[in-house]
Amino acid sequence: MTLFDTHAHYIDSRFEEEYEGGAAALIPEVFASGVSYVVNVGTNPENSLRAIEQVKKYEGMYAAVGIHPTDGQYLKGTPDEELAKIRALLEKREENKIVALGEIGFDYHYDDTDKPLQTEYFERQINLALEYDLPVIIHDRDAHGDCFDTVRKYPELRGVFHSYSGSREMAIDLVRRGWYISFSGVISFKNAPRVREVAQAMPADRILIETDCPYLAPVPYRGKLNHSGLMRHTLAALADARGEDEATLAEQLMQNSRRLFGIA
Ligand SMILES: [Zn+2]
Repeated sequence: MTLFDTHAHYIDSRFEEEYEGGAAALIPEVFASGVSYVVNVGTNPENSLRAIEQVKKYEGMYAAVGIHPTDGQYLKGTPDEELAKIRALLEKREENKIVALGEIGFDYHYDDTDKPLQTEYFERQINLALEYDLPVIIHDRDAHGDCFDTVRKYPELRGVFHSYSGSREMAIDLVRRGWYISFSGVISFKNAPRVREVAQAMPADRILIETDCPYLAPVPYRGKLNHSGLMRHTLAALADARGEDEATLAEQLMQNSRRLFGIA
């Protein structure tokens, strides 16, 4: 059995602070422990470039580059300047091993949310994804209605809602429109019965799993440093919610992930 982690942040400083030897020591262990592929996701131009430098060192690792909704307001440059940096990375997408634009979206969790700026970054990056024919990785935190309304405006856009937290009804509508729904360690949390209900309702060919590491470690590691090697616990929780056996599910998830990210 082998797994595909569709969403990880090995550029996060927590790996350097909390793991002996940092990400450089951890990643080879992850690939030796039943994980074949990882999408390493940037959240701003600077760490997207670092994500690319990292993925070039590992055969099974690919990059997603983009500006996260809460990163946008802390960038020094104007949207024109910051998006030009993302475009420069996309111009070399083959050699940079870029398989998606992301993560992008809306995040209304914090008091200082700048909705107009989030909207500008989200929509302009959707247009970049369409221009470069890449799928998008959607970050939707406390913003389900606006995320849904935005992606609906672009019927030709494809991609995944990562660590899905919306309603069952919205998930059903999204998969009908060709979107993928990704499940993180949250599906193993006691207080997340709604996520398990979504998982039950999804067609087999539209689901993915991810870590979102270093965050969202699955039970029994909840609250600890997460990494792709712990994803088998997320697989077990997803298999349990769907009443499927883990090996069959893992094979299906592998096919789905490779299809979405265009990895032959
Ligand atoms: Zn993330």
